[in-house]
Amino acid sequence: MMSRIIAVNRSFHDLLIISDQFSAVRDDISGLKSGEFLTISNKKYYDDEKFDKMVIYNSDFEKSEKLDKREGLDAVKSKFYKLVFQIAQSLKGKAGKLTIPDNKDKAWFEEAWTLSTYGYRTGKNADTYCSIENPSENVIQATAQNFARKITDQPANICTPASFIKSVEEFVSEQEMGSKIELITRDHNWLKEKKMGSFLSIAQGSIGHVDPYLLEIHVNKPEDKSVRPKVAFIGKGVTFDSGGLNMKGEEMMMLMKLDMGGAANLAAAIVASAKIGLDGYYVVLCGLTENMPGPASVRPGDVVTAMNGLEIEVTNTDGEGRMVMADLLYYAATEFKPKHLIDMATLTGGCVMAFGGFGSAVMSVNDDLVDKIQAGFTKANERVWRMPMWPGILADAKCKFSDLMNIHKHACSASYAGLFLENFTDEHPSYAHIDIAGTERNGLFSTVDYLAPGLHSGRPTRSMIEFILALDKED
Ligand SMILES: [Zn+2]
Repeated sequence: MMSRIIAVNRSFHDLLIISDQFSAVRDDISGLKSGEFLTISNKKYYDDEKFDKMVIYNSDFEKSEKLDKREGLDAVKSKFYKLVFQIAQSLKGKAGKLTIPDNKDKAWFEEAWTLSTYGYRTGKNADTYCSIENPSENVIQATAQNFARKITDQPANICTPASFIKSVEEFVSEQEMGSKIELITRDHNWLKEKKMGSFLSIAQGSIGHVDPYLLEIHVNKPEDKSVRPKVAFIGKGVTFDSGGLNMKGEEMMMLMKLDMGGAANLAAAIVASAKIGLDGYYVVLCGLTENMPGPASVRPGDVVTAMNGLEIEVTNTDGEGRMVMADLLYYAATEFKPKHLIDMATLTGGCVMAFGGFGSAVMSVNDDLVDKIQAGFTKANERVWRMPMWPGILADAKCKFSDLMNIHKHACSASYAGLFLENFTDEHPSYAHIDIAGTERNGLFSTVDYLAPGLHSGRPTRSMIEFILALDKED
């Protein structure tokens, strides 16, 4: 049996994962099944009084469990991460350093530990855990996911569009990426100059109270303006979605601080990718606003003109995310001419109905891009599934007053949203829309058992990092 041993010192100030099997404890661990761990007194094994307790875990999972094509996940990795989560919970309250020697578990253990020890509260209310000494690339990825979780967990009175920007600035400087990343903030006057009537229709209910912003994140921005970004990402950053005048009910509205998850995940992913190392030029656009009712709010039935000239009838003010992203897609496509154009949003109930919290949805007519996105998710041990982009779904909505309706009441709401957004991509040949409505919160529509339930998941931040890192290696 392969066992790993964590020795815990008397004052709990250091944890050390011992990489080799320790034959002296064989009797104690003979009944330990894979995926289990136990804590034993160390006194009978060590003269050295430095350590007085050991946590021994068995990660000897059956090889046959490794590839579970039907689950779409690496079963061994999932079980390993769950085991680390349980160990971390059992060691909660112990501060200090966790030293992990180079062994086959190192990368997974570090990543799982970092994800497992995330908590929302800070200061005297925070749960304490040992932190990892000399963290590797996997810790950068998990730290980015935790950053996305943190700002998504923040309530809307704390995470406003302006403070979202401040959080990203702080994250960039914490990660020491200031020389590679340029942040540009655009206010609502700039949005007006650009004739972003679609974005503004949602923001207008909050201007003067909680102002909207566009945050542009540029990684490796070149002097030469003719250099095209490898990807321009657009993130939905609705810091609170009341639904607007088509107001949500009590239960759904309570969740709506999460509606900036797309922007949070993309911001986190691009900063972490830059930290790990990127050669190419990348742009992330975060469309930040609230969606609130009020005398200045957009009304159901209003017709607004987007930056690309298309007229949109706002048939439901709760279809706000696509309104925000429509103008940003067009701006990205025409201003930067990226090789790939990708948006991410907590967008539709249709996506939740289809996949629950088990996976995200991708919509694209570009098979190659879908394959690349899928590969990123697989590498991060997360799920994504393709939904149709059948033009008839959009054509079925007959508009009498405009070119498009933001919402059409039929069953295919996830695909409808993707098709709606495609109208604003300037016919970009490599466009994908990723809907994360179900996966953003953990423990609501499903539970990932190495992430704390009841908090936001930051999914799929690591999948996007893997996608970006792989793409960066291509020409
Ligand atoms: Zn909404």
